[in-house]
Amino acid sequence: MSDINNDLELFNELAKVLLEDEKNNPVADRIDAEDLYATLDLSLNDNGIADADFKNVMTEVIEATPKTATNLFFNQLFGGRQGKAVFGDLLAVMLNNSMYTYKVAGPQVGIELEIIHKSCEMIGYGKTSSGTFPTGGSMSNYMALIMGRDAADPKFRNEGKGKNLLAYASVESHYSNAKNASFAGIGRNNVRYIETDDLGRMNPVKLDEQIQKDIADGHTPAFVNATAGTTVLGAFDPIDAIADVCEKYDSIWFHVDGAYCGGAMFSAKYKHLLKGVDRSDSFSYNAHKMLGTPLTCSIILVKDKKYLSGSFSNDAEYLYQTDGDEFNLGKTSFQCGRRNDALKFWTLWKSLGTNGLEKIIDQQFILADVARDYVRNNSDYQLYSFDDSISICFNYKGIDPDVLCTALYEEKETVVGFGNFREDTFIRLVTINGTNEPEDLLNFFKVLEDFVANNPALVGLDSSVFEA
Ligand SMILES: *Cc1c(COP(=O)(O)O)cnc(C)c1O
Repeated sequence: MSDINNDLELFNELAKVLLEDEKNNPVADRIDAEDLYATLDLSLNDNGIADADFKNVMTEVIEATPKTATNLFFNQLFGGRQGKAVFGDLLAVMLNNSMYTYKVAGPQVGIELEIIHKSCEMIGYGKTSSGTFPTGGSMSNYMALIMGRDAADPKFRNEGKGKNLLAYASVESHYSNAKNASFAGIGRNNVRYIETDDLGRMNPVKLDEQIQKDIADGHTPAFVNATAGTTVLGAFDPIDAIADVCEKYDSIWFHVDGAYCGGAMFSAKYKHLLKGVDRSDSFSYNAHKMLGTPLTCSIILVKDKKYLSGSFSNDAEYLYQTDGDEFNLGKTSFQCGRRNDALKFWTLWKSLGTNGLEKIIDQQFILADVARDYVRNNSDYQLYSFDDSISICFNYKGIDPDVLCTALYEEKETVVGFGNFREDTFIRLVTINGTNEPEDLLNFFKVLEDFVANNPALVGLDSSVFEA
């Protein structure tokens, strides 16, 4: 049996290896998927291995794993590393509570509730509000849809069928809406995708027209999902105008999906982008996106908590043996056993204060302005995204974005992805790493430009040529 103290020492040692490696190799050596098992010893065998061999294997695995915390990772809607949040998550692993009851989680329950109550207060939900920590933004959308379904048709949960329910989201909304409709028994074909305006925001007039048509056809509109920060463009749907539409129809649950940019609620300068969120029935945001906590940390807030317990509580005598429902969080969660995702966000918030969180958010918008200005002021670039967004979408010298992103990744230059809006495809640079500085963004463009200068064949290539 190994002593945990030795394991913790090894952990510290390897964490230092990782931090050093991030400085020297901000983009990890890429291993082709088909070569993976031949390159690294990932095999599981009858016999264990000696400590020294274990350490060697772990070092190789660490060095080969994509590095998401460095200043050359821009691929996804998370990045960087907030030290106090990492600290909280490591502690959550050591404490290893399950969040379903006060009996086994104690003060950790209070920590989770404090984040929920404080967040509710900040977005203007009243005293009857509450929330929970689902496994991510997709699950938050799912829980919202289930509450919407049960509110529109209370028999549905027992009968497994019911009214012809419909869900609405914009064409730019997150793909989880389609999957969730299938899981909820509503059906993928019963999601109506509403057109956006030229800036990628849901058009509330089109939403209203569609709802009226559907009611005339005998359907029951149950759920509207507005997005605060669409996955590609980072656009904010007009929440107030959508709330005006939803309030006209009794059966509609109005959810705001702020997984990507709901964190703007922490910024005095940018919270206007969420104006009207207090009129929603539920709102979710991912602290593992804008707030920089380790994956995953997603929060759903519900204006009237009776819907949360209505849809998600189940009696279980073996489990709920002490304390009131308020402190037995399993009564309002999707899971039974549940990881402590709250502590890492709480340690960050506690140490920096709300003002510190605001700085993290504002920094992302500052970096976005730097990147957008750079693209705007350089005629080799074409800009496809808009102000008030931390997604900067562009193309460089007319190079196919798929070709360029893949080449940058395979050549270990930088990790960035591409997306599309309407008929355009472009590189999507995300300034979500609040630990970056403006120089890091300027360095990104330099890396990209130097790479193209050294690979002149890229200009004029399209992906079909590249693949052939
Ligand atoms: C990232 C994202 C989600 C999904 O969140 P996960 O935590 O990855 O499941 C949902 N909606 C939007 C708008 C997102 O950007």
